[in-house]
Amino acid sequence: MEEVDGNVVLARALKEQGVEFVFGIVGFPVIELGMALQTAGIHFIGMRNEQAACYAAQAIGYLTGNPAGCLVVSGPGLIHAFGGMANAQVNCWPLIVIGGSAPQDHEGIGGFQETVPTQVELARPYCKYSARPASLKLIPMHVEKAVRLSKYGRPGVSYLDFPGNMLAARISSNEIPAQYTSPELPLILPNPQSIEDAIKLLMGAERPLVIVGKGAAYARAENEVVDLIESTNLPFLATPMGKGVVSDNSSKNVGPARSLALQKADVVLLLGARLNWILHFGREPRYAPDVKVIQIDIIAEELNNSIKSAVAIQSDLKAAVSQIVEKLKLKRFNFGNEKQWWKQLKMKCDGNRKGVQASAMDTSTPLNYYTVFHHIQEILPKNCIIVSEGANTMDIGRTMLLNDLPRHRLDAGTFGTMGVGLGFAIAAALYCRYYEPTKKVVCVEGDSAFGFSGMEIETMVRYKLPIVIIIVNNSGIYSGVDKELYEEIQSSGEITKVTPPTTLNYSTKYETMMHMFNRKGHFCQTVSEIQDALKESLNVTDGPSVINIIISPTADRKPQTFAWLTESKL
Ligand code: ADP
Ligand code: MG
Repeated sequence: MEEVDGNVVLARALKEQGVEFVFGIVGFPVIELGMALQTAGIHFIGMRNEQAACYAAQAIGYLTGNPAGCLVVSGPGLIHAFGGMANAQVNCWPLIVIGGSAPQDHEGIGGFQETVPTQVELARPYCKYSARPASLKLIPMHVEKAVRLSKYGRPGVSYLDFPGNMLAARISSNEIPAQYTSPELPLILPNPQSIEDAIKLLMGAERPLVIVGKGAAYARAENEVVDLIESTNLPFLATPMGKGVVSDNSSKNVGPARSLALQKADVVLLLGARLNWILHFGREPRYAPDVKVIQIDIIAEELNNSIKSAVAIQSDLKAAVSQIVEKLKLKRFNFGNEKQWWKQLKMKCDGNRKGVQASAMDTSTPLNYYTVFHHIQEILPKNCIIVSEGANTMDIGRTMLLNDLPRHRLDAGTFGTMGVGLGFAIAAALYCRYYEPTKKVVCVEGDSAFGFSGMEIETMVRYKLPIVIIIVNNSGIYSGVDKELYEEIQSSGEITKVTPPTTLNYSTKYETMMHMFNRKGHFCQTVSEIQDALKESLNVTDGPSVINIIISPTADRKPQTFAWLTESKL
């Protein structure tokens, strides 16, 4: 007869339900659990902050469609993870969080790291499912439910709570009931009439536009969406993480004419994207007042949100898009290049590309964003996974760093969370190691964004993750101040009153963090230094590289037609 403790029961249940990776930080009462996970055959990645661990775990969920675990200690450990849980929930990514908690006989009398209300209640707003198994025998059932709920319907977060006494309790393994594993996702098919309505609208459109969201990436609908675009010649735009479902290099990509395309389209086919701030709520002035939206989403609750859709379809994207493509092919529908709409879009794309090209050729130092990204893009392997965050770094990088493949861009996402980058990169590098070993991970960070989780480079060194971290360093948040002004501020007697809140230390040598590990860092101020550093770093296979690129503290974005986020018509 085999006697096991709660750690072993939980670890085996997670493995049985398909959890392959757990990220976290151990401490009371989950130290033995970390080891039990490894004994059960699960990868355990010890991180330096629970928030970063939680970001890493959810990126695995997005990249594989299967949730990873995030393991945290009681009280503050779980609370640190809430930032990550909120981010996963808002982005609709599957994730399982496992929290240790104070022993039950210390509850109510001020147990070590005890929370009031309980951790199950505290976690609930960030979850689809939050529970504490009532006994060791019930652990496998709750783990199955947690995994299933994280994936079914709209993906999201599950939290399971384990008091110290439960993890330490023992039971004979033959008393643990066998637990089924749920089948893969139930197929949700579209209403046939809605597909007909969609076809009719699309075929009658004068200025059609397809918008590809990260729901299409998550749904693994790339073959269907590419088929749709290629066979119909419809113009498309991708949202930030929808990039790559259809290659950014496709001639049908009207990303460079984004504002015009949104503003003038008469029919929008919305594939797995919400009409939230990223898509300007689907409203005027960013869209035509009478735009007709064909919306496809996995959950009914999202349909007709913010504006009323002309056709609202609850369906898995693969299924709905393949039906639409088949029908359009039967009708030999093709939106030819001779159409006025295509001419308008192409002209705008060409004009905008030329404007960017001019800035990108300016190699005077300190460099500007466009020059930096242009030269990075020239060297990056086409199939690399790009992680990106920061304000200007992410916004400008999104338009200049191209994605050829789906799920190859990870960024601050729907929640606009800064600090996600290093955790995402760690997950992406592990994903590559086990599933796509020929690929590289490049993490393009603003200097402020890097600061949130910079210590995770130790994690990257420890697990030999060959991540290329590029810090686009403007010595500030949005912008910094130049050297002379910075020195003046530093010598003033009222440093906290006069340092602009957006300012960070001038020209910080972030690359020297690599010296802590006897590794080389790169400090770049010119284009040729960037090229050399990037080429060298892409060949490193045994750990991370840091390339610190100094740009002008006052480098800015090109002027935009619409002020970002500031306009409001509500
Ligand atoms: P983006 O960031 O690209 O704008 P969002 O995160 O706002 O994308 O929207 C993604 C949408 O995709 C969500 O509303 C989600 O419910 C939906 N979704 C997720 N998986 C699927 C799927 N398999 N089929 C259809 N829609 C999906
Ligand atoms: Mg900055």
